[in-house]
Amino acid sequence: MNQNKSVQIFVTGGTFDKDYNFITGELYFKDTHLHDMLEVGRSTLPVDIKTLMMVDSLEMTEADRGIIEHNCRKSTYENIVITHGTDTMTETGKYLKKAQIDGKTIVLTGAMIPYAFGSSSDGFFNLGSALAFAQVLNPGVYICMNGQYWDTDNAVKNRSTGFFQIKG
Ligand code: GLU
Repeated sequence: MNQNKSVQIFVTGGTFDKDYNFITGELYFKDTHLHDMLEVGRSTLPVDIKTLMMVDSLEMTEADRGIIEHNCRKSTYENIVITHGTDTMTETGKYLKKAQIDGKTIVLTGAMIPYAFGSSSDGFFNLGSALAFAQVLNPGVYICMNGQYWDTDNAVKNRSTGFFQIKG
């Protein structure tokens, strides 16, 4: 097994990367926290981080999904992590699966609580899990949340509990 994998990370936004304006109490997008997170996490994994967009996934369009697909397809990396809002993460996953991007392991992840909120955020944990899964799973499109992974067709966000689970 190749033990020296490197990973492409595509940033698309979502709560994961939202900042908090403590004056207005609003969440907003500035820059991605990915670089900080990898530094704080003492990661030595070679990565190439590219911000494709910074959007709430409820506002993600088909054209946006086309941009994500195009970038996955043209990436020279076989192992890809996409940070994404949780509300439509499975929709993007399905879109990418349908696009049949051969030979690539694509893992979508996100957070329910912004990284900017500190240790209460699930972003750090999810990013670490996604980077690990992206290196070891067979080619395909996966959702990684809550320490688990699913084929994108099998995952669903339970809007009552706030956890992802297998589609029942
Ligand atoms: N609606 C937001 C999104 O999907 C918030 C959900 C989240 O990221 O957890 O981008």
